[in-house]
Amino acid sequence: FYRPSDKAAVLAGRRAHFGGNLSLTYDDPVMLVRGWKHHLFDEWGRPYLDAYNNVPHVGHAHPRIQAVAADQLQRMNSNTRYLHPAQLAFAEKVLSKLPARFEVCFFVNSGTEANELALRLARAHTGNMGMVTPDHGYHGNTTGAIAISAYKFNKPGGVGQADWVELVEVADDYRGSFRRDDAERATKFADFVDPAIARLQEMGHGVAGFIAETFPSVGGQIIPPKGYLAAVYDKIRAAGGVCIADEVQTGLGRLGDYYFGFEHQGAEPDIVVMGKPIGNGHPLGVLVTTKAIAQSFDNGIEYFSTFGGSTLSCRIGKEVLDIVDDEGLQENARLMGERLMTGLRVLEGEFGCVGDVRGMGLFLGVELINPDGSEGTEICRYVKNRMRDHRILIGSEGPKDNILKIRPPLTIEAEDVDMILWALREVLAEVGDWAPAPACDHDHHHTGCGCC
Ligand code: PMP
Repeated sequence: FYRPSDKAAVLAGRRAHFGGNLSLTYDDPVMLVRGWKHHLFDEWGRPYLDAYNNVPHVGHAHPRIQAVAADQLQRMNSNTRYLHPAQLAFAEKVLSKLPARFEVCFFVNSGTEANELALRLARAHTGNMGMVTPDHGYHGNTTGAIAISAYKFNKPGGVGQADWVELVEVADDYRGSFRRDDAERATKFADFVDPAIARLQEMGHGVAGFIAETFPSVGGQIIPPKGYLAAVYDKIRAAGGVCIADEVQTGLGRLGDYYFGFEHQGAEPDIVVMGKPIGNGHPLGVLVTTKAIAQSFDNGIEYFSTFGGSTLSCRIGKEVLDIVDDEGLQENARLMGERLMTGLRVLEGEFGCVGDVRGMGLFLGVELINPDGSEGTEICRYVKNRMRDHRILIGSEGPKDNILKIRPPLTIEAEDVDMILWALREVLAEVGDWAPAPACDHDHHHTGCGCC
């Protein structure tokens, strides 16, 4: 038995009984045992500001989620083979947030499962095999989802790229081929899809579809230029494919101005995938699509998931979406996002290591750079860990892991935003002294030279 406060014992037990690739955040990991709104508390009751987790969308330990889960567990919890009004209520709530062409919902248990299903739907509908997807994307941890997740298959130890997958450059207008001073960049990035489609057709795979995180998160909190996805979708549809928007990170009001990211792009996908926040911690994924695509999938084989669309899941999912509306959380995301962005822009002006700040609502990225403009991976690691010392949890993303990721629950308040900005300024000031000077060619682990 472990004493509740014995973090070292829990860590040792974890190393003994779990796989080594189950990664832990921070050089000094945190053990968290309670939560409230956007606050977390460790084994000693010390508070942490949660500025990272998007799963507790409406806040940790929300009393309405507790109440609805307890109520349903006291009644019964079963599956979609029986009628229950909660299934329909949840479906109608989800569909009320989407354009009219979306009429059919599938309830699953995770974002991975929803994307895996999206692949099957795209193939059933088109009869084709090939998929186009931006580089560095992430769509899940199963065999099919990994095949469309360059972030996984292209890593050392990854399975490599399947011949039915074509990668296109991420529409990153800070570091990519076309920059913000280029008014045509959206269509230029979209044009990368043309050769990808041609290759899939030459190989005989045809085009089943295109899948992208609407705003690439794992790729570095990228906001593609307006119109990028609309242009891509046109090309994919012309080639016979369907367009899948992975809204696991961007959906459900986080962006403030938009309920879903594709709205910003002026694009209407054929399949929308939701996950993480929609269950506020309860395992829940949702796929919505058109009648026509759902009909192609209804090809004689039953679709069933034991837990997907359970009574409990539907009650919780509906409650999450209701809370977003009732508590005005999309508007709060817009206001707090603006406050954060304004402060981050000030820091960008103050500190040379801040190369770029970008984002929308509470989906934000701070790209840290070395004096030569290259990706500041070590700086990012330092900042993330120092913010943890200030008991503020943020993350990092990007192919070189140099983009700070700020993605709090939508409940965050002005004083919390100001605390993030205050602490970040303190830490960035430390980096000012610590970062390698331009002339320094020591590696980052070199110590004692005064510049590293
Ligand atoms: N898509 C995106 C964009 C994600 O960020 C994630 C999870 N990080 C997934 C899919 C997979 O979701 P899950 O972990 O719930 O399977």
